[in-house]
Amino acid sequence: MPEKQTVIGRFAPSPTGPLHLGSLYTALASFLQARSQQGRWLLRIDDLDTPRNRPGSVASILDTLDKLGLHWDGGIAYQSRQLACYQDKLDYLLQNHWLYRCGCSRKMPGSENYSGHCRNHHVSPGIPHALRLKTDTWQVIFDDLLQGLVTEQLSGPHSDFIVKRKDHVIAYQFAVVVDDHLQQVNEIVRGCDLLTSTPKQIYLQQLLGYPTPRYVHVPVIIDRYGFKLSKQTLATAVDTHNPSALIFNLLDLLKQQPPKALTGASVTELLNWAVAHWHPEALKNTQTLSIS
Ligand code: GLU
Ligand code: ZN
Repeated sequence: MPEKQTVIGRFAPSPTGPLHLGSLYTALASFLQARSQQGRWLLRIDDLDTPRNRPGSVASILDTLDKLGLHWDGGIAYQSRQLACYQDKLDYLLQNHWLYRCGCSRKMPGSENYSGHCRNHHVSPGIPHALRLKTDTWQVIFDDLLQGLVTEQLSGPHSDFIVKRKDHVIAYQFAVVVDDHLQQVNEIVRGCDLLTSTPKQIYLQQLLGYPTPRYVHVPVIIDRYGFKLSKQTLATAVDTHNPSALIFNLLDLLKQQPPKALTGASVTELLNWAVAHWHPEALKNTQTLSIS
């Protein structure tokens, strides 16, 4: 019998503000998924998008995780310390003609609206440009633990996506693939808002010769107006004054049905119960979860 591979999961918040209920929901789900399999749970700070970083966020995120008993393994990884590594992988793709310069303005957000223009037009290195990855007509299929089979057709030039932005920031899609590989992450639990990014990331993994991790996309919490809780919708930071009540509430939102008898139990007791009873299937085929 081959030895069972240790599960390595991670939580990768961006330091754009304090954690809100939506981000904690994902944090707890990924913690329970790793711990219930005796796996490792890593913490990475996705701090590349410097214009969006807010001072003090990292300290506040660490403090919240600590209060909630969500202790990670090993040190904290910071994407901002991996720039040489990203550049190395970009150089590899450049040398193999997978990337090209794109001078288009970002008037139309989202690569869906990109015309494919620069793939066949020379953009001089001297003018501000992004780097785009060439996609092929290529079908990406993956079996998400909760969302089932996901199929996405990359369709050539129109799907070419940015790996390095015009402002020189390494794009999320690219950094996340390199980092998850460096950290040997083999199971990714994150919100369904990133479901459409996953095929792009799998495509990149294939080009870079990386194995594809297992994916577990949990529902995203939406407010009464149907918007995802995020800093943009001004979701308030969670109140950590009563960590036990907060964990209880999150377990309830994760449909784990914590027993009433555990009301007021310590954070450690609650987490021990949750690890022992974790059943992510309760979240199957659900992409959003409405609160209030
Ligand atoms: N840093 C990303 C975010 O805060 C999450 C990255 C990921 O889980 O792949 O949305
Ligand atoms: Zn262009």
